[in-house]
Amino acid sequence: MRLHNSLTGRVEELVPQVAGEVRMYHCGPTVYKRQHIGNFRAFMLADLLRRVFESQGRVVTQVMNITDVGHLTEDDAADATGEDKLQKEAARRKLDPWQIAREEEQNFKEDLAALRIVPAHHYPRATEHVPEMIAMIETLLANGHAYEADGNVYFDVRSFPGYGALSGNTLTELEAGASGRVEERSDKRHPADFALWKRDPKHLMQWDSPFGRGFPGWHIECSAMSRKYLGDTLDIHTGGPDNKFPHHECEIAQSESVTGQPFVRHWIHCGWLEIGGEKMSKRAGALFTIPELLEKGYTGADLRLYLLRTHYRSPLPFDLSLLDEAAKTRAKLDHFVHYEMAERGDGPDQPAVAQAIDTARRDFAAALEDDLNTSVALAAIHTFMTAVNRAEPHRADAARAIAAMREFDAIFGVLSDAPASGADDAEIDALVAERDAARAAKSWGRADQIRDELATRGIELLDSAAGTRWRRK
Ligand SMILES: [Zn+2]
Repeated sequence: MRLHNSLTGRVEELVPQVAGEVRMYHCGPTVYKRQHIGNFRAFMLADLLRRVFESQGRVVTQVMNITDVGHLTEDDAADATGEDKLQKEAARRKLDPWQIAREEEQNFKEDLAALRIVPAHHYPRATEHVPEMIAMIETLLANGHAYEADGNVYFDVRSFPGYGALSGNTLTELEAGASGRVEERSDKRHPADFALWKRDPKHLMQWDSPFGRGFPGWHIECSAMSRKYLGDTLDIHTGGPDNKFPHHECEIAQSESVTGQPFVRHWIHCGWLEIGGEKMSKRAGALFTIPELLEKGYTGADLRLYLLRTHYRSPLPFDLSLLDEAAKTRAKLDHFVHYEMAERGDGPDQPAVAQAIDTARRDFAAALEDDLNTSVALAAIHTFMTAVNRAEPHRADAARAIAAMREFDAIFGVLSDAPASGADDAEIDALVAERDAARAAKSWGRADQIRDELATRGIELLDSAAGTRWRRK
């Protein structure tokens, strides 16, 4: 299994510490608002790794953190607001930040389920691991990698010679970059030093610590929680392209300064989702959430295929027409399994079918083992469907072809379980119109009866101010 390693910039053989096992950590969401489709690119990469490893018979342990501490963004150069997003959202919505964090965590998990993402084994919350973070900070203070300044604790980047190895930054460049800006915090020894613990009496989340009352920095949360659940060295650590610097660079510095062990064997980052040719971080406001896209009539499986059909490291443009293409491709896969291969007559086996299955299995596995090349894997499925159709299989061959498709779908996760409803569109339209009329006449009983009847046929209704639309589940 060969995977790109962001640390070396090369595609390398994956060598887990224990043969047959993979321990993975994924940077999860900051739960202050609903994630948009661009955020799910990184989470889909995590799911893809999980499914591929399990299909290879490996035992996977997967951890994804939930960042539920609002963190100030002085570490986070990409965010120009300099404000704590969770606190800002709490003030705007006049709610407790804890309450927002729980709600958004729930929303995040619903979105994962809609996208058929296999749940991780652990979703540790930052707020529940503050003692582990404090313990690491104490070690860093004791061994000279951190220092206290006015109730804040900073990591001393000059104490860690490897700082910058992942992102390609050097301390000299970082210092030069910072010198042009007005440095608000004069208590840091170097502009790239980052906060492990922060004192801010205005912050709504506070904990007692040996360094005074305050709250932990963002980076230390991932170092502390990955260590607790996966040990000193992880086989794989993933994240979005925006996590690489400073977040992951800081994680490496902290973890290795505490343990003296290599932190991560294989760093894997997905590419940017782009909108109008720009990185999503600049245009996040223009992106849709998962419920917004479902409301537009796309299924979770359509969104999955959109995210998976482009290689995870390539830039992925976002455009509704690309979702439409993904939906068409997905329908084609379903059509093959549920119609083209269904209700075949008895007859002799065609050697071409067995041959097509062998070829597709080999090409599919080889594509994924080559740095998760999902676009080549998907092409292998298309070639397979064409070859099988051309062979005009009888019942037994068709069943084998369906089984092979199910095997491939253990990775893609886009096929429907059952054939789409047999009801034709005109018939459904008529029932929906009848239900609208019943609602207008306040005949709620009849309206509900029609809704239930359609539901049993796999039709979901979407009521909105503009009228009722429907889709096949
Ligand atoms: Zn992280």
